Amino acid sequence: MNEDSRHDALDRQGLQECHAREGMGTMLAQLTSAALRGIESYLVRVEVNFGTGLPSFSVVGLAEGAVREGRERVWAALQNSGFSVPPCKITVNLAPADVRKEGSAFDLPLALGLLAGMGRIPAEAFSGTVFVGELGLDGSLRPVRGALSMAESARRAGLGALVLPRANAPEGAVVAGMRILGADSLLDVVRHLGGDHVIPPLVLDAGTLLEQEESHGPDMAEVRGQGYVKRALEVAAAGGHNILLLGPPGSGKTMLARRLPGILPPMCLEEAVEVTRIHSVAGLLAPGEPLLRTRPFRAPHHTISDGGMVGGGGVPRPGEVSLAHHGVLFLDELPEYRRNILEALRQPLEDGHVYLARARISLQFPSRFVLVAAMNPCPCGFFGDGTDRCTCDPTSVSRYRARISGPLLDRVDLHVSVRRVPFQDLADPGSGEETSSIRARVRDARALQRERFRGREGVHTNAQMQTREIRRFCRPSREIICMLQGAMDRLGLSARAYHRILKVGRTVADLAGSSEIGPSHVGEAIQYRTLDRAAPL
Ligand SMILES: [Zn+2]
Repeated sequence: MNEDSRHDALDRQGLQECHAREGMGTMLAQLTSAALRGIESYLVRVEVNFGTGLPSFSVVGLAEGAVREGRERVWAALQNSGFSVPPCKITVNLAPADVRKEGSAFDLPLALGLLAGMGRIPAEAFSGTVFVGELGLDGSLRPVRGALSMAESARRAGLGALVLPRANAPEGAVVAGMRILGADSLLDVVRHLGGDHVIPPLVLDAGTLLEQEESHGPDMAEVRGQGYVKRALEVAAAGGHNILLLGPPGSGKTMLARRLPGILPPMCLEEAVEVTRIHSVAGLLAPGEPLLRTRPFRAPHHTISDGGMVGGGGVPRPGEVSLAHHGVLFLDELPEYRRNILEALRQPLEDGHVYLARARISLQFPSRFVLVAAMNPCPCGFFGDGTDRCTCDPTSVSRYRARISGPLLDRVDLHVSVRRVPFQDLADPGSGEETSSIRARVRDARALQRERFRGREGVHTNAQMQTREIRRFCRPSREIICMLQGAMDRLGLSARAYHRILKVGRTVADLAGSSEIGPSHVGEAIQYRTLDRAAPL
């Protein structure tokens, strides 16, 4: 709709109102909204000024495309809700004016500001409340990204109420101590503010919600055989260790990896809120979903872009490493990923966050996940499967493996060979332990680690131990030193494997409830260093 036809549509009464106002000088309406910066939110003051001069409608204050387009939506929504705006010089300022604002969450406050300027809403009705929502042309309210973060920023600022599109209300209500009002349309909000039809606040108890047992995803018991790999995944889950699965196509690597989030301990409320916040900002939270309660499992394809993996865009959004926060990132066919993508994983793997510096903005996204990587043992995939089907020569096998970068591999504690399941295991119906009982052991092992690392910044699991912690908590006995020495000589284990074996040995001991790392624990840990061995597999 262009400027002219808009003004044609205005009614005579509105024109008179505006002329009357011109005599009074300008009229200002103010209300509070919220915008996103990464996964955090900050409050924005929306100021609507009705001035004298040629009729126009402009938005200032570093508004990006979607915010400016909001004018069109707001105009149509007002008309289709039965309001007409007089032809005034309307200026909207979004403050603070030095921060770029994007998205459509300002539609609702913009429309309300106009209505207040026209005297349709008492201006004092806005106080203490934050307004957020995208408007449809028909005046309906549509969900926005990041509602949870917005509720948090409102609470931080001491504002007690948040008006949201109904689909976002459950997510907002996760934030305790806020009055969350979910509305279906602009008219709903106008009636609420006028006192005609008050919207009741949505009340949720996030703690209770979290306790309600939810599905932990596919069950480990459904995978036949593969006892050795399942055990390695249990060790990975218990110590937070990254793991590499080496095996031919069809050996069930993906099926096994998908079951890892289920055996990780259930998320605490703080973790669930963090995960929900990230997914909400990325626009991946289903409408009406209050809280993500299962750990994420993300499996980006090897054709993914840098931005898709670590986060990006003009106003950066979280990438796969952040969507996998507190969960599992699964990279199938690891050597197929571009080298720069694998290099970009180093920082999140090391620090538990990604730092994105752009021309206009720099941001940090959390990214603490367990990495499960999978690859074929050789280009054809059949190397070491006990048949003579592999046609690869030793050079091409080494070249293929060299495609995964050393620094990435340095952050992977367990390498495990996955073999095809023998027929008798496939036929055996009762071979698998259920996810819930594996998870119980993992939970106990994690409890020991929490106790061990209490008060140590950045160390929560055995996998996060640095040299200092390894010296302190993984002190090997004389017998174990001999054993490690023997293994390094016999199997040709690299020196860097030494610390990793001790860390994994610590986790195996924790799973056994043992305060000392014993020979059997180290013996098991040595098995999980397939790639370190001089003779492959
Ligand atoms: Zn091969």
